[in-house]
Amino acid sequence: MFIVSDDITAGSRRKMLNASAPVSVAAAVLTLMFYPTPGTPDAGSVGAMEGRAVVITVFAEDATTSWDFTLAADRKTRDHSLLYQGMAVDYLEKSAAEWGKEIEFVYNWETDPYLRYDAVFEDDLVYDDDGYDIYDEWEYIDTSLPDMDTIKKKYKADHVIYMFLFNTPPECEEVSNTRNYYEGLAYPYEVCNMFCHSEDIEECPSAYAHEMLHTFGAPDLYTPETEYLKNCGVTQRYVDYCAMAYPNDIMVTVYDEKTYLPRYDRITNEITEITAYYVGLTDHCDDVIIYGLDKSEFDRG
Ligand SMILES: [Zn+2]
Repeated sequence: MFIVSDDITAGSRRKMLNASAPVSVAAAVLTLMFYPTPGTPDAGSVGAMEGRAVVITVFAEDATTSWDFTLAADRKTRDHSLLYQGMAVDYLEKSAAEWGKEIEFVYNWETDPYLRYDAVFEDDLVYDDDGYDIYDEWEYIDTSLPDMDTIKKKYKADHVIYMFLFNTPPECEEVSNTRNYYEGLAYPYEVCNMFCHSEDIEECPSAYAHEMLHTFGAPDLYTPETEYLKNCGVTQRYVDYCAMAYPNDIMVTVYDEKTYLPRYDRITNEITEITAYYVGLTDHCDDVIIYGLDKSEFDRG
């Protein structure tokens, strides 16, 4: 499958307000496609949504953002992030069970420090969206973190998700994004970049779940594929259909279906059949045939 993203986290609100986002996304993807690749692993660090997934959390600093845990505000953001990660993985575990699949996440870096790291990048990884940022992160993962196979072995895990947390200010207009794996990329590491604040809101639990779903293969359902952005063959016609048929799917929006506001107490968005299909929770979805979408990487039929 192919890509999905360097994508935009959220949903209809951003779709309406942030028309410029796909342009920078396009630039990022293009750069990746033409960068020489030292190797082409068979699969990324995350497969179908079943088994056990380890989430490695990295508190990242870059040219414009930093963490200072002597400050109450930064401690609050850090603690909220752990809380929201927990809500997201609970949600994903329960949602998978509704589709008859079992997935378990190991994520709690507070109780298990092996899961938590700090990284300092010289480059601007938040605002300067030139497509090379992911190489900084991949190389950091490759050289500074425990080997991916060692992590899998230690936790008897099937998947490793790398979650970089950036302490972005509320006025930040960049939004969280995910680099999932597709054939030809230089490294197998699937990375969620969470921008803890953006567009005057704190990133919400549903957004953490949305970005993690990208690593399992879910496409965005609020924005179509373009020449530069592969998105499972999702067309504008299908985006329009999803807005009508599945307005509360978590890949359509991460906000409350009725108020269009983020929720911090629970996740109320749904994993409908189309999203379940792309993350491997079900092997069939009529929409794929009707709308001519790409097959899921897990669909062997
Ligand atoms: Zn997305």
